[in-house]
Amino acid sequence: MDLKKFEVWFVTGSQHLYGEETLKQVAEHSKTIAKSLNDSPQIPVKVVFRPTVKSPEEIYAACQEANTAPNCIGIIAWMHTFSPAKMWIGGLRILQKPIVHLHTQFNRDIPWDTIDMDFMNLNQSAHGDREFGFMMTRMRLDRKVVTGHWQDAETLGQLNAWARAAAGWNDWQGARFVRFGDNMRYVAVTEGDKVEAELKFGYSVNTHGVGDLVKVINSVTDKSIDTLVEEYADSYTLAASLHKGKDRHKDLREAARIELGMRSFLEDGNYKGYTDTFEDLHGMAQLPGIASQRLMGSGYGFGGEGDWKTAALVRAMKVMGSGLPGGNSFMEDYTYHFEPGNNLVLGAHMLEICESIADGKPSCEIHPLGIGGKADPVRLVFNSAAGPALNASIVDMGNRFRLLVNEVEAIAPTHALPKLPVARVLWKPYPDMKTGCSAWIQAGGAHHTGYSQNLTSEHMRDFADMAGIEFALIGKRTDLYQFRNELRWNEAYYR
Ligand code: MN
Repeated sequence: MDLKKFEVWFVTGSQHLYGEETLKQVAEHSKTIAKSLNDSPQIPVKVVFRPTVKSPEEIYAACQEANTAPNCIGIIAWMHTFSPAKMWIGGLRILQKPIVHLHTQFNRDIPWDTIDMDFMNLNQSAHGDREFGFMMTRMRLDRKVVTGHWQDAETLGQLNAWARAAAGWNDWQGARFVRFGDNMRYVAVTEGDKVEAELKFGYSVNTHGVGDLVKVINSVTDKSIDTLVEEYADSYTLAASLHKGKDRHKDLREAARIELGMRSFLEDGNYKGYTDTFEDLHGMAQLPGIASQRLMGSGYGFGGEGDWKTAALVRAMKVMGSGLPGGNSFMEDYTYHFEPGNNLVLGAHMLEICESIADGKPSCEIHPLGIGGKADPVRLVFNSAAGPALNASIVDMGNRFRLLVNEVEAIAPTHALPKLPVARVLWKPYPDMKTGCSAWIQAGGAHHTGYSQNLTSEHMRDFADMAGIEFALIGKRTDLYQFRNELRWNEAYYR
């Protein structure tokens, strides 16, 4: 997805007190900053200069316009001068788009030799931004505050993270996710309140009996299967038995039929992601393996076994990470390596790991599944690259949603795993295996996650702020005792 189609509006607050000349300078400076942000390779979205707002009416109108402008995904607010903040109450009360408060100043340095009172009266964000900040805090409004000069790389990095989070948040508004069947029987953590999710997150989740999907799969033409099977052969290393003329080639064709049917179902329904359940595949020959891996590769969200919360989260993470190197995938904590001094998690799923996190060309294979009672599914098998990564999970706590993130370090595969027929990742959780896993379990985090190679906890925190939900981070500095206290305090805060 090209994030440049999204706009964030650069809104500068002031007041009429200063007179025409000063306000002209304020506007010029704002224009310069907005253009510089817009042109920066670090900022993925369009930054649009907006006329300085100087009265309650202008502020209200700006917020109203931002709410209804379809391409506007958020506002960057800056008080170059002093903008008495009671003027902002009306506007902030109706603002529905995310807001970041950029606490910056036009000049980087104090001009020691020439500074006079005119300079002081123009460059007031050091106190003007405090007045604005008070009002947002007084109104209990969640927002990000970024402090630093507007040309500083760290400042740009923080705005980048916020803009990406805003793009993910915007993508959720009005988004449609489809469930093929219900959740896996008796499973708890993949359940959740879909009404509350729609109220809180803006996306809807609706079910289709798998028969609706099967009808589309059965209508796929042989010709389109021919084409897709060729694409498989070009993109992946095909197992010998899957080649044309070999005994399992018909199964590869069946996998292609499933992918084409699902893709067309998702396109026709304008869906951004889906979940399926191996317990409910009536009329399908195989559990979708390569289909789900490639659909995720195309940007669809996916969660296994009816896990619609993770499907939606994976989709948002894909939007947030658009254009960055690395990928985002559905993931599951599968099995552990408890070797002293070298504790590891092996992440995988029965089949459905996104090809966007593959290190090198995946191999396309067919193996029995062992559960589900269906024909052997075709799947992509690959390893994933080493490097910093994270796992994220949205938990329904009954009275609220919690976004839980664990920063991890993916490590290069040390063994070939010749008999493991699925895509997999090895990682070390931060701050260490014992603390990371214990904290995750204390927080009620799911075994399903969105796994990211290109997002940081900053993206996820900004995203949680936009959603107005709890954010809990397990990272390099996490102490289990403090973390448990944080969860307890949050329990009181959200009561
Ligand atoms: Mn699973």
